[in-house]
Amino acid sequence: MEPRQESLDVRLADIKENGRLRLHFSGIVQGVGFRPFLYRSAEKFGLKGFVKNTSAGVTLEVEGGRLGEFVRHIVRHAPPLSHIETLRLEEIPLRHSREFAILESDTSGQKNVMVSPDIALCEACQKEMANAADRRHAYPFTNCTDCGPRFSIIEDLPYDRPLTTMKRFTMCLDCRREYRSPSDRRYHAQPVSCPNCGPKLKLRIKGKESKGEPLTEALKILKTDRVLAVKGIGGFHLACRTSQKAMARLRHLKKRERKPFAMMASLEMIRKHCRVSSKEKELLQSPAAPIVLLESLPKTRLGRQVAPGQNRLGFMLPYSPLHRLLIEKMGEALVMTSANRSDEPIIFRDGAAELRELSDAILTHDRPIHTFADDSVVGNFAKETYFFRRSRGFVPLPIHLPFSTPQTVLALGGMLKTTFTLLHGNRALVSQHIGDTESIAALAAEKQAIGHFLKIFALSPGVIAVDMHPAYPNRLLAADFPGARVIEVQHHRAHIASLLAESGETDKVLGIALDGTGYGDDGTIWGGEFFSGDLHRLERVGHLLPIFLPGGDAAAHEPWRTALSLLLAVGAEKAARRFAKKFGRKGDQVLEAVVQRRGGVMTTSCGRLFDGVAALLGLGDCNSYEGELPSLLQAEAERARPQKQSYPYALEKKSAMPVLNMLMAVEAMLADKKSRAEKARCFHLTLANGLLDMAISCTGTSGIRTAALSGGVFQNTLLLKMSRDLLQENGFRVLHHTQVPANDGGISLGQAVLAAAPYRKEL
Ligand SMILES: [Zn+2]
Ligand SMILES: [Zn+2]
Repeated sequence: MEPRQESLDVRLADIKENGRLRLHFSGIVQGVGFRPFLYRSAEKFGLKGFVKNTSAGVTLEVEGGRLGEFVRHIVRHAPPLSHIETLRLEEIPLRHSREFAILESDTSGQKNVMVSPDIALCEACQKEMANAADRRHAYPFTNCTDCGPRFSIIEDLPYDRPLTTMKRFTMCLDCRREYRSPSDRRYHAQPVSCPNCGPKLKLRIKGKESKGEPLTEALKILKTDRVLAVKGIGGFHLACRTSQKAMARLRHLKKRERKPFAMMASLEMIRKHCRVSSKEKELLQSPAAPIVLLESLPKTRLGRQVAPGQNRLGFMLPYSPLHRLLIEKMGEALVMTSANRSDEPIIFRDGAAELRELSDAILTHDRPIHTFADDSVVGNFAKETYFFRRSRGFVPLPIHLPFSTPQTVLALGGMLKTTFTLLHGNRALVSQHIGDTESIAALAAEKQAIGHFLKIFALSPGVIAVDMHPAYPNRLLAADFPGARVIEVQHHRAHIASLLAESGETDKVLGIALDGTGYGDDGTIWGGEFFSGDLHRLERVGHLLPIFLPGGDAAAHEPWRTALSLLLAVGAEKAARRFAKKFGRKGDQVLEAVVQRRGGVMTTSCGRLFDGVAALLGLGDCNSYEGELPSLLQAEAERARPQKQSYPYALEKKSAMPVLNMLMAVEAMLADKKSRAEKARCFHLTLANGLLDMAISCTGTSGIRTAALSGGVFQNTLLLKMSRDLLQENGFRVLHHTQVPANDGGISLGQAVLAAAPYRKEL
């Protein structure tokens, strides 16, 4: 990471050439080799003094000559994983130090340090592992100042071994020598260890520890198509081969019918199944080592079992030394999915009873994980990182805001794909992925993770931001902060605000939030909304035409209900009756409910519209996981060649607001004789055209020329691309996400910035 010079409050030209300086660094300056770097730099310039970690960062005192050059050197050559956020500098009297020393950490004072995320195995450590003569040859826990676990093992700050889960391991003499030697690449690497003194692997089968060599035994489990739970960095994975037998076993254990699984493999293996662009290779090999969604090659059959119906596969590189050993020794791609029951948080403790139920054997070790973090999931959109899940490797890096607030805001997020955000000053700390807080386990995990963040960052919230939906379970967590003011934020405004915040956008924009469902201002269910405004205020200025959802929430799981409703809405009664037959009595009941408009809700949700259209095109009747049918609709559309044709649609005016009516498009699509893929593509393009017309109508003479695209539907990168291109061709500047997901994983950020609006100071 480049240190951002503009943020350093030090005028490098003003530094005196001789004397003694005290420098205070904040940012990501602990756990990333920053002190050793300062030590080596001081030696190089022949300076005396000391360096130490503090709760607020790193303090350095140096005396001697060429001080200006020294400071410039530090700013320019800081270690790659460090990030200097502020540098305070003062001239102090000479103390005639005789040496340069690294002092014990100072734990008093205000905490202001940033915590490094977990970092994937570096190249130097990989080479050592591969070298038969090295004492860490094939060592599953190797790490150095440039790589290894951080966020997941930190119990408190400052980042020193006694405050990490490595405290239980006493370094051997060799490790101690490396740890203490400034010229060594493990100098002050807190998780340093070796086969003599570090964590040990264990294999448990049916609760009993296996007597054989753990790795060898674990490989036997994998090779016989069974499911192995593997303790990783931020939690346990369930690992297995991609064979039909192993996949059937995994789907049975995880009770996961069709949802795609992520895989782990070497780059060479990945290239046998997927196209990998240079940007995607960069993402795979980045220190965060996320799961990258890659376009699968037509010849690969891997997707059939792993990601049915999809045209993308999620791959990550082996990012821990243990993963590397497993992939190397198996010589093939392995499925690696978070060990959890559906939508619950990832399991990260050894004792967890569910772990035994979910796997045939458990490969674990005695280095505890203090904080869980699922793998992050990203894609490449317009040569930028597009997040689907922001978690391990990115959390807890802050997102820098275009304003500052003295008030600490804690935003609790939504219900699905929940994250929370802590906002203070000009930084927003977005948490790791927590899961679906409808489950008690996830709610408990959110509560615990909030506690950990408040402790390590030493913050105490004065404002709690929550979703407007009165039934979202995590609203209960606000009760933990009795003195704090609770502010409700509307779901789709939070989506738009999250995008404005991460983009640093302070001007007025048109926000287009296409989403599943969220609670609206008027108590109805929204999900296709247009807003005009900025980070202070977003006014609803348009929406999609409401459609009837028979069964309300049930329609999210059973899109055939929505399909029936759409058929009746376009007057295709005969077709509706035919369609309903397939579902027997239930079909008739739903048909009746739609005619009577009872037992359901009206909604402007764009996600539900996609559900219904996908069901009408025969892509499925039910969502076995959130967004399944819409994602299949995208995959289907991407199989068709680009086309120019668009179905008809209408812009209507309702209560002085433009409303986008897509029913004509549905009707035209039903009558269309083209292939399914072409129809799917045409529907996408029609919606993108509709959005453009809405944007023109909603902005009118306001002068707003920026459109901000957010909400779960914009996980659909085909729709995102079509919309962006059309808007740009018509003179709009288009914002899309690059730091948090467009889905509900991003809304805690938006909640936080909107709740902070009354308190903020402009930068
Ligand atoms: Zn390393
Ligand atoms: Zn050792």
